[in-house]
Amino acid sequence: MVKVFISADMEGATGVAVGAHVGSDSSDYGRMRKLLTADINAAIRGAMAGGATDFVVTDAHGKMTNILIEDLDRHARLFSGSNKPFAQMEGIGPEYAAAFFVAYHAREGTEDGLLNHTLLGNTVYEIRCNGRPFGETGINAALAGHFGVPVCLVTGDDKVAGEARELLGDIEAAQVKTSSERLVANLLPPAASSELIAARAQAAVERAGRGEIKPFQVPGPVQFEIDFKSTAGVKMACLFPTVEYLGSKSLRVRGDDYLAAFRQMWGTLIMVRACQSGAI
Ligand SMILES: [Zn+2]
Repeated sequence: MVKVFISADMEGATGVAVGAHVGSDSSDYGRMRKLLTADINAAIRGAMAGGATDFVVTDAHGKMTNILIEDLDRHARLFSGSNKPFAQMEGIGPEYAAAFFVAYHAREGTEDGLLNHTLLGNTVYEIRCNGRPFGETGINAALAGHFGVPVCLVTGDDKVAGEARELLGDIEAAQVKTSSERLVANLLPPAASSELIAARAQAAVERAGRGEIKPFQVPGPVQFEIDFKSTAGVKMACLFPTVEYLGSKSLRVRGDDYLAAFRQMWGTLIMVRACQSGAI
């Protein structure tokens, strides 16, 4: 059995160019859900040609209920819903030969990165892991790396492909669009993007099998510094004694290893967002 873990966001899906495409209240959302699911299926088809046999997919965008189960490849199992301790990586563990990041996007602040943001777009300005700015690619690749799993494929725009390769090295990238502004992309149609994704996914599994792509590992101790877009909720998060106040919009959390630090970071973000939305 060769298992592949797939974390599927939405901004980097075939066809997505603007925020309305990935918002569940938009009339275009239904089309984009189909295209996102087709991208995942293309990755599964390619990976199977490369020798993979089993797939776990985590829905990793917004309410995390975007992927159409009725259209999903029969070899996959899907984590759907958003109250996940591992967030965009729910289900990751040491049993996977490779991880894929499908429909990903560049981190907050990336010039011309399509729909660039980091985890919670309205809330987070920057996240630094041991001093280095991380987007979702880095944050989630290090979680896979904690379990010894290499991220071998990213799909999305040219900016996230560049971010992934800068951080993770020479991994496979299926660039299904080229962005020229945060809200403008030159898009491949699905007939072309599905072939590209499948080819890159096949290569990713074959290269993983040969041990050519190493896990991205952040050795402990690990600290996250988080800068927020607003002051709201930052002091409330510091009710937890493990959360350090750095300034009106900034705080720090630590862990002995990456997983411990990630848990602190994700829990803190959820707390701050809840305060900012007036939900508690
Ligand atoms: Zn995202």
